[in-house]
Amino acid sequence: MTPATTPALNLNNGVTMPALGLGVFQSPPEETTAAVETALRDGYRLIDTAAAYDNEREVGEGIRRSGVDRDELFVTTKLWISDYGFDAARIGFEASLRRLGVDHVDLYLLHQPVPTHFDDTIAAFKAAETFLADGRARAIGVSNFSAEHLRTLIDRTDVVPAVNQVELHPYFTQPALREVHAELGIVTQAWSPLGGVLVYVPGSDESRGPLTDPVVTELAAKYGKTPAQVVLRWHLEHGFCAIPKSVKAHRIAENFDVFDFTLEAEEVAAIDALDKGVRGGPDPERLSPETYPYIVDNS
Ligand code: NDP
Repeated sequence: MTPATTPALNLNNGVTMPALGLGVFQSPPEETTAAVETALRDGYRLIDTAAAYDNEREVGEGIRRSGVDRDELFVTTKLWISDYGFDAARIGFEASLRRLGVDHVDLYLLHQPVPTHFDDTIAAFKAAETFLADGRARAIGVSNFSAEHLRTLIDRTDVVPAVNQVELHPYFTQPALREVHAELGIVTQAWSPLGGVLVYVPGSDESRGPLTDPVVTELAAKYGKTPAQVVLRWHLEHGFCAIPKSVKAHRIAENFDVFDFTLEAEEVAAIDALDKGVRGGPDPERLSPETYPYIVDNS
């Protein structure tokens, strides 16, 4: 069977990005290569990793083993805050390219804003502008930026971020930030698209996430799809880019089998109405080297 082709989203610099990809946060290095290889064989073309995930090498290995041509792929990685500042960002970026075993990435993101050291955040983005200019990044963007962070960044730099990757799932739909993205021409990329961050935190269980919500499970029954497929379809109907993570082959396939049905406008609206307005992940306003002391090893 020929794998389905992922719909594409247009970025503000003319590059196109698949609207669905595989995330690998918390994918153990020893399982990441197989997960990436499986996903690419299933038809995925976007892989989302980060220096801080400590599995860029295994992502690169999965890409090579898949046999899929590099030109067909969309590889995203992210700069961690321990490498913010202009010179440090260059070292961090080149270490990511080396670990991935690629000569360019398709999207390079600042992983987090660091509000207490925003000059270093700006300097890191200015370094990313040079990677864009020299062709080693086909697009650059940010992650976990608020509207205010975006506006400040845009005032002080030359390139409008192509993407802001933020927590987004049926229980946290970020309507105000999405409006700002639309105004600024920034594509919304959804992390924890299945609401995983509500479920995998210690002491939680599936009932805290949207996959057991009756609105979602009833639509799943109606369409003969799974709750995860309904939620991913909701992302696609909105024009978000979703990057669900799994290390299980059957779920990797399930999460990509979403191109043979659509949701009606009122069904999309019913899922929109599930928004609780409460994030599951960390508040980007409080992120700093003190609260997140992890340091990426670039040796
Ligand atoms: P997801 O919403 O993708 O959920 C992942 C969790 O759901 C995992 O525990 C996975 O388990 C499980 N799962 C996957 N598929 C299914 C399914 N079909 N049915 C039921 N359960 C399923 O959350 P993540 O937080 O992992 O986010 C996805 C990606 O977003 C990350 O991998 C990363 O690339 C990115 N991300 C970015 C962040 C940022 O700050 N920029 C922060 C967090 C994530 P299993 O593997 O066992 O199948």
